Amino acid sequence: MGDLSNFVGGAFQPAADGGTLDNINPATGQRIGSMPRSQPGDVDAAVAAAKAARSGPWGDSTVAQRAAMLDAIADGIEGRLEEFARAESRDNGKPVRLARTVDIPRAVANFRFFAGAIRQASGEAYPMDGALNYTHTKPVGVCALITPWNLPLYLLTWKTAPALAMGNTVVAKPSEMTPTTATLLCEVMQAAGLPDGVFNLVHGLGPETGAPLTSHPDVALVSFTGGTATGEHVARAAAPSFKKLSLELGGKNPTVIFADADFDDAVEGAARAGFLNQGQICLCGSRILVERSIHDRFVDALAARAEAMTVGDPSDDAHDMGALIGHAHREKVEGYIALSAEEGGTIRAGGVRPELPAPFDAGAFLRPTVISGLASTCRTATEEIFGPVVTVPPFDTEEEAIAMANGTRYGLAGSVWTTNLKRGHRVAAALDSGMVWVNTWLLRDLRVPFGGMKDSGVGREGGHRSLAFYSEARNICIKL
Ligand code: NAD
Repeated sequence: MGDLSNFVGGAFQPAADGGTLDNINPATGQRIGSMPRSQPGDVDAAVAAAKAARSGPWGDSTVAQRAAMLDAIADGIEGRLEEFARAESRDNGKPVRLARTVDIPRAVANFRFFAGAIRQASGEAYPMDGALNYTHTKPVGVCALITPWNLPLYLLTWKTAPALAMGNTVVAKPSEMTPTTATLLCEVMQAAGLPDGVFNLVHGLGPETGAPLTSHPDVALVSFTGGTATGEHVARAAAPSFKKLSLELGGKNPTVIFADADFDDAVEGAARAGFLNQGQICLCGSRILVERSIHDRFVDALAARAEAMTVGDPSDDAHDMGALIGHAHREKVEGYIALSAEEGGTIRAGGVRPELPAPFDAGAFLRPTVISGLASTCRTATEEIFGPVVTVPPFDTEEEAIAMANGTRYGLAGSVWTTNLKRGHRVAAALDSGMVWVNTWLLRDLRVPFGGMKDSGVGREGGHRSLAFYSEARNICIKL
């Protein structure tokens, strides 16, 4: 699977000009293959294939046929689960154990869930005096799906499954850092018998491949997951032709820990929320706000938990953490660790690269890092770092905790840790976040709304909201 292709109109093919990009394994720094460096002409060809596939067998498909197709794709991924997991780990640096237990099973679940969702979907009817209204849905058209590197197949399938379920056709652009599992997905779709052109894949860089896709006149819908700054470009590109738009953007999520929380659960939960996937999940809790009466004990326990984590070879199931996505990203994260010292912080755990044997000594590894002593308003505590770095400021009152939790431009997710039921409800309701967990984190039900407030995004996907986003709801009024 080293040298990857685009997938356009049912054919695996290179970029028209033959251009390629290297695919690097961040755990070793070694080149593991290449992918097409697609240009606007390649995007045009993919969009044309997707547009053509709207008529023909896919355009005529029934709900039962599309649901069966999604189940067949789920079966195809599941049948190659270990291969997918290893590919995800090699591209991304994440532990293969995490890919095997979270990323790839979730991709399977995304297809199965939306197969079930369309089988079960009900319609709306509004009888009125002398007439009947009912809601009729149509596919939106060609959907552009653009995804980041942190959860590559997990997020691509979260968009692809409902887009196909509702009868659309797709042009997908995965991150240039993690191209492999998207290409494997095309193989699975081809084997499952998805008609040519229904799903197309173009690899390449954001400005060269992603930008022409988001502004393409024949693209009717854009679903983008990535950074907030990129999201602004995407929104501008999509606006002139009024494309349906969903933006899932960055976060700097609070983990709010009250003194009445179960202490050990809260330490474990905060460590998991801070460091899972090397802290590179948009939902990660990187701001851990702790009630002052337990603050110092909590920081000691969290630092000890972080120091106990093992970091190294992602293919070794003994390790808790693998590599960051690349060397440039590690330098950005380390830049924030250096900034935290200037801002008055004290590193209580990590802050350094682990000592690893070859070839992992050339990988982008970083130890989980706990920083105390920072004001909750400083840059380290408010800007998205997207790495294994948490800050742990104290608070005195519930009101102060809420103000601190809401004190960034982001509003994606948060968690609240308390054994006081009323307080759990109260604080969860007060947080300006699209998703709040109480006494847990990243417990996901695919029916619930998913998305961010403020600069964390626009729109909601998940469950029936995804079905609504990937379709046009139309009213038909019949005079009786
Ligand atoms: P990114 O914004 O750099 O890239 C995301 C995707 O957009 C990539 O495929 C990239 O090639 C493409 N892209 C870049 N410039 C583009 C342009 N001008 N037009 C169209 N496409 C373009 O993000 P990243 O570094 O890959 O991912 C990390 C970011 O993603 C973090 O900010 C993280 O919080 C966010 N994220 C958000 C969610 C969520 O659900 N809210 C989930 C995962 C990641």
